[in-house]
Amino acid sequence: MSMKIYNSLRRQLEDFVPLNPEQVSIYSCGPTVYDYIHMGNARTALVTDIIRRYLVYKGYNVKLVQNLTDIDDKIINRAAELGVSAKQLAHQNGEAFFEDSQRLGIQPADVHPKATEHIPEMIDLIQILLDKGAAYVIDGSVYYRVNQFAEYGKLSNRKPEDLLAGARVEIDERKEDPRDFDMWKAVKPGEPSWESPWGRGRPGWHIECSAMAMKHLGETIDIHAGGEDLQFPHHENEIAQSELATGTPFARYWMHVAFLKIDGKRMGKSEHNFILLRDALDNYPTEVIRHFLISAHYRHPLDYNRESLTKSEGALRRLNNCLDALKNYYEDIEAVQEMKSQFTLAMDTDFNTAQALGAIFTLVGEVNKSLSTQAYQALTETCQVLGIYNTDTQIDDGDNVQQRDQMINLLLEIRQDARNRKDWETSDKIRDRLKELNIEIKDTREGTTWKIIS
Ligand code: AMP
Ligand code: ZN
Repeated sequence: MSMKIYNSLRRQLEDFVPLNPEQVSIYSCGPTVYDYIHMGNARTALVTDIIRRYLVYKGYNVKLVQNLTDIDDKIINRAAELGVSAKQLAHQNGEAFFEDSQRLGIQPADVHPKATEHIPEMIDLIQILLDKGAAYVIDGSVYYRVNQFAEYGKLSNRKPEDLLAGARVEIDERKEDPRDFDMWKAVKPGEPSWESPWGRGRPGWHIECSAMAMKHLGETIDIHAGGEDLQFPHHENEIAQSELATGTPFARYWMHVAFLKIDGKRMGKSEHNFILLRDALDNYPTEVIRHFLISAHYRHPLDYNRESLTKSEGALRRLNNCLDALKNYYEDIEAVQEMKSQFTLAMDTDFNTAQALGAIFTLVGEVNKSLSTQAYQALTETCQVLGIYNTDTQIDDGDNVQQRDQMINLLLEIRQDARNRKDWETSDKIRDRLKELNIEIKDTREGTTWKIIS
């Protein structure tokens, strides 16, 4: 069966046919490095990792490029708050991103380009657009002239009036059209800046990805991925810049990952409701977090909550027990081939990880009846594509974890009662004794939270 990918550009499942059968090219929009990454960012990065692992499993040669946005308003503002340079802040968080990704078992991309190391490529691309009449300069800033690109809006499928409403959020009277966006920002006092033909300044976010994708993967790439929030305006603008400059399609398949949510709302920095990936990794093994993050299809939202993680812990305990038992048995079973074809069918159909997990766990049930080496090999092979089996990892017993969580919550309830009575001695004692047991609690306006510290 051929592989199918849901292409956000045409809003349909399409056969996956790479431009060059020798090498599949993937570009994934990476983080803006002003802070540590949260579980939502991790979901998008993990989906890209799994797409790549699966394509390699299918025999493709893959070149993956994932950028780091290391110059941006958020970085400049956060650096000013902390009293460090933007460069220093971006460097620290870039290193933390690699560390966290590695802990989650994400294989490094072939290239991790940084925006600040590609300024000449961005300037060249802006110059091409100026020469084509698709851009204009005002006071040292360069704007993209949207009305020069007839297909503007094709990715996000927005009507012209919606595009205008979106663009009005940042009104700039100097623009010819509210939809126009800046590709080069004239320097402001105290901000990092680079020389350009239009004076000192810094690049806009959208031109960064167009220039870096084309530099490392060529004018047309196979798969361009990112979270669903990037579809408009970021990816729409990347298409407008790249396609007007080259006259060829920029990406053949656009893939957008649905949000990781918490309490029904998007997990995000600006929403102040995020769980850092590194904190989650302090509390749960890598494979548990990976299992949880792929337990829903990437185009469906997924809700972060403790019960789901506990369920993932239980599922992986079953898997590990089964694999441990299998190591000692030698017998063929039909279910093995069935599992492998169900796994491939699920992943071939737009990377349906939820169904792929279903196939794996059906076989886990079957092997209780019939155990074999083939089953062991098939399970380890497919679980390694998803990165959810590692012989070195010990998964806690699921019942124990559930019981532990219930006990901690009970202690927190007793502590809350003590606080209500203004019995600070008891309340502090519970906090301090839990800390001695490596359980740190935090009182926030929304209630008390806890985490295990290593
Ligand atoms: P940012 O650092 O905000 O540019 O985000 C880095 C990547 O994470 C982008 O591809 C975003 O679309 C993605 N992302 C951000 N928040 C979430 C979320 N809650 N769920 C899934 N992906 C997200
Ligand atoms: Zn991007």
